[in-house]
Amino acid sequence: MYPQGSNNYQINFSGLGCWLTIIGVVWLLGAIGLGWIVKSIFALLVLILAAPVIGFFGFRWWLKRNLIEGNCPVCDTQLAGLKNAQTVCPNCRTQLQVTGDGFTRFTPEGTVEVNAVDVTGGSDRANDVDVVDVTVEVLPPAEDDTL
Ligand SMILES: [Zn+2]
Repeated sequence: MYPQGSNNYQINFSGLGCWLTIIGVVWLLGAIGLGWIVKSIFALLVLILAAPVIGFFGFRWWLKRNLIEGNCPVCDTQLAGLKNAQTVCPNCRTQLQVTGDGFTRFTPEGTVEVNAVDVTGGSDRANDVDVVDVTVEVLPPAEDDTL
């Protein structure tokens, strides 16, 4: 009727038998004066069991310090990245640098950043060409705090 239930019972029983064997061996070793073996095995076991837990919390701590969440400065998409890494915004394909405070546009050496302050679109129908007047303002170079 309940094959899964009976399976669980068997697993539990064999687990109990396993523990009884371990306890028996431990008692036997203690009885013949080899308790230090039990202690070192127990210490090793605790270490093995504790390692993933310590690793997990260590990783979480590291992630909390290094995972930066912020918005893309260009299109405001919410992003997450590792500190001091470079990433590309999945929405607008802008190269971004992850800093302690958030995301900034990554500008390779020699790039001059400009800010469009006045864009007037128009078309010169007479000559059949589109004319766009753009007035730009040169921005100060991006802060480089990696040095
Ligand atoms: Zn973007």
